[in-house]
Amino acid sequence: MPAEIIDGAAVAAKVRAEVARDAAALATRGIIPGLTVVLVGDDGASAVYVKAKEKACHEAGMHGETIRMPASTTQAELLAVVDGLNADPKIHGILVQMPLPKQIDPQAIIRRIAPHKDVDGFHPVNVGKVLIGDSDAFAPCTPWGALVLMQAYNVSTAGKECVILGRSNIVGKPMASLMVQPGVDATVTVCHSRTKDLVSHLRRADIVVAAIGKAEFVTGDMLKPGAVVIDVGINRVDDATAKAGYKLYGDVHFPSASEVASLITPVPGGVGRMTIAMLMKNTVRAASMVLA
Ligand code: NDP
Repeated sequence: MPAEIIDGAAVAAKVRAEVARDAAALATRGIIPGLTVVLVGDDGASAVYVKAKEKACHEAGMHGETIRMPASTTQAELLAVVDGLNADPKIHGILVQMPLPKQIDPQAIIRRIAPHKDVDGFHPVNVGKVLIGDSDAFAPCTPWGALVLMQAYNVSTAGKECVILGRSNIVGKPMASLMVQPGVDATVTVCHSRTKDLVSHLRRADIVVAAIGKAEFVTGDMLKPGAVVIDVGINRVDDATAKAGYKLYGDVHFPSASEVASLITPVPGGVGRMTIAMLMKNTVRAASMVLA
């Protein structure tokens, strides 16, 4: 039987509605949650993401603004902007859009953002808090969104074998931190480019999270029948027949995997839809912490 398809747009809409409700409740107490995105340079894809974030903020009744800086911006100039936002009480969340131009060390910027405004969840303080299961941690939006999708579909995670493909700081490692927490209780394996016999790991996985950035890498014959497949990958593949000149593919070969899996996320329309919704959720949480 073909897999049930996880509707990322529907779950993301639900999260956004919750965020709008929380933002309205905060507004009655005089707090308008505020997110500032800093965009350095003119990377086309980044500009699209940033616009979507600003729009999502406004739709949720939040204050959303973008600071645009030229590609020639120095590290010192960007750090000064971050310092200003750290000190601004109207701003509860700060996101510096990656990638940054070569002259700027992304780690230096991430470490300068005040941890209580780090709604991207990349500051080492939040990375550590997620790992130890601190309730006031900001989890990175994409892996958190992937977990929320599983929860929305009542995926049973306790004692299940969860195999994560990819060990980036943005997706793979924080996904492992989230899946191993008490309450989620998965048994986690993290695979990467040096993993031996990747397929043997995949074949025993009850849950597969694919985040390697390789179009259609995971095929149905690599999966255990009935596995839950969460495809984080977003890969642009040139396609002259497509209006945009490219098509988006996940890290999973959807046609064959959906014949074997019990539940699967599509690309687009799966995990990708969750990232901004979780960013909004983190921002409203950051704003509510002001009251604590
Ligand atoms: P990175 O390139 O930072 O990391 C890729 C990881 O995959 C690395 O750990 C690498 O191993 C591993 N890897 C690469 N090739 C193989 C292979 N053949 N076998 C096993 N492991 C392999 O990618 P990201 O984590 O940033 O992103 C992964 C995917 O998720 C991308 O398609 C990206 O576009 C997408 N993405 C989607 C988001 C969203 O939905 N909003 C947000 C962020 C990412 P090693 O460490 O050994 O090099």
